[in-house]
Amino acid sequence: MINIIFSQEYKNHDTGNHPESIERIKVVNNLIKEEYSKHNLIEPTIADKKIISLVHDLDYVNKIYDSIPNSGFTYFDPDTIASPNSLKSYLLAVGGSVDAVNYILDNTNKDVFFCAHRPPGHHAEINKAMGFGVFNNVAISAQYALNSGKFKKILIVDFDVHHGNGTQHIFENNPNIFYASSHQYPFYPGTGSLNEVGVGNIFNCPLPSDCDSSSFRSLFRKNIVDKIDIKFDLIYFSAGFDAHKLDPLASINLEDNDFYWVTKIVLEKFANNVPIISILEGGYNMKGLYNGLNNHLKKLVEYSNE
Ligand SMILES: [Zn+2]
Repeated sequence: MINIIFSQEYKNHDTGNHPESIERIKVVNNLIKEEYSKHNLIEPTIADKKIISLVHDLDYVNKIYDSIPNSGFTYFDPDTIASPNSLKSYLLAVGGSVDAVNYILDNTNKDVFFCAHRPPGHHAEINKAMGFGVFNNVAISAQYALNSGKFKKILIVDFDVHHGNGTQHIFENNPNIFYASSHQYPFYPGTGSLNEVGVGNIFNCPLPSDCDSSSFRSLFRKNIVDKIDIKFDLIYFSAGFDAHKLDPLASINLEDNDFYWVTKIVLEKFANNVPIISILEGGYNMKGLYNGLNNHLKKLVEYSNE
């Protein structure tokens, strides 16, 4: 049994004719209905400014609140669009990511959570909206978890096809939060080379354009699985499905079952009966998103039943 944090509200974050569309959350909703309806479905709560400013500058947070349009669209950057109902989605996405930590703190077992939300957050910097997202959901949640004092070492594995520049920058001086990312490189957002290592807590796995399933697996092993030798108390996935071969935004050719494989190898190496929080990032082909996420969730369900 896994816990899925989800709200219909994400259908109201209108981005117009943009790849990070309402259609994405409809696909996720269909998958949950068709395959995961027996799991524990939870409504997220709204995050407040104090929680968001665990990693973002308060001035920046205030600016986002004040920039939401009454009609039409606001562009935080050419890729990052807000409409009148967007703020609620932003706050629920952060809120749900933090709720998962609170549920885990209230329990002692190895709870597994999937936060099904939009927009993605891993590009969002301390004081800058980027790459479709304004608040860094995974970073806020991980910082909140670390501050609780219950978790000494936290791992974030980001298999979205884009490097999570925001997450890396937020934690690159924090020896207790490790960030490991596989991503097309060189590519948007430009960061993520092998020599960005933080304080020994950053592990980048650049993937060449047209990388296929077997190259992905060997590079992921070499640059992440074989390089890190720690068991963690809490593991996050920044779960993006835009490295799928059908995805229109990038040119990595992962198959459906690579998302099962990557989840499995991470859990086998780094998770010793510990809680897992997986947070949705990208994925812009609807079939790739549905099948990739289904494979990821299948492994999370197996882990929760082990
Ligand atoms: Zn992405």
